[in-house]
Amino acid sequence: MNGTVEKTERATVTIHTYTSPESGLAANTHIIELATQVLVLDTQYGVPFAIEAAELAHSLGKPVTRVYVSHDHPDHFFGAGFFRAPVYALAETQASIAAAGDAMLAGNKVVAGDFVPDSVVVPGEIVAPGVEVIDGVRFEFTAVRDAEADVMLTIALPEEGIVMAQDLVYDNLHLFIAGGHLDGWANAVRALREKDYTTVLPGHGAPGGAELYDFVLDYLAGAAHALAAAADADELKSSLVAAFPDAGGVGLLDIQNGYLFPQQ
Ligand SMILES: [Zn+2]
Repeated sequence: MNGTVEKTERATVTIHTYTSPESGLAANTHIIELATQVLVLDTQYGVPFAIEAAELAHSLGKPVTRVYVSHDHPDHFFGAGFFRAPVYALAETQASIAAAGDAMLAGNKVVAGDFVPDSVVVPGEIVAPGVEVIDGVRFEFTAVRDAEADVMLTIALPEEGIVMAQDLVYDNLHLFIAGGHLDGWANAVRALREKDYTTVLPGHGAPGGAELYDFVLDYLAGAAHALAAAADADELKSSLVAAFPDAGGVGLLDIQNGYLFPQQ
């Protein structure tokens, strides 16, 4: 297997977090194994990793009944078709993928070719913010606005002390700051910290606890300064690498610079 898998185990649920290698942006697919069924959250960017995560989900011996897409970034929805289950998203995310998904795919095909899928799956089902009990487990679906993306679905299992924070939290990887809502993002992370979840499952990188919030808040503060001071893409990249020398995902900075400095 190319990716790594870390399990979060409770009496009622086991979450298998599949993390792709950095060539797949260290993107996570959370495979939520309940008593009678399996749910999936986020679907990978690269085809080999989507296939690997889907095989893991289907290997658990229970039907895969839902695939949730947290937000409209390619590393979260491109692989949705490989999981062979209905795809759910927030209404805004569904609308965004319906409107722009094909163009996003065309742009990514230019640089990534066959590494990315040949078509985009527009989520067919809407997930509404609120509470739903599935197989006896209480799920809290929340729409977080103006953070890493314009809108992001997070899923918490409050009785199990688990939050799937998706791209509000990366574990020691350079953050994608081209979405531009750095203050809103920090506020969302502080709000999450107040909930006292014991297990934090990020959108990128390994699962952890509340210490993951500190990395993100430090990074966002540093990145705001770097962004304000940088004259060009190279300067931004070098100042972020110098400020966060231990952070992985340096390749993400080049992708990001394509958004921040499109003329260069
Ligand atoms: Zn992401």
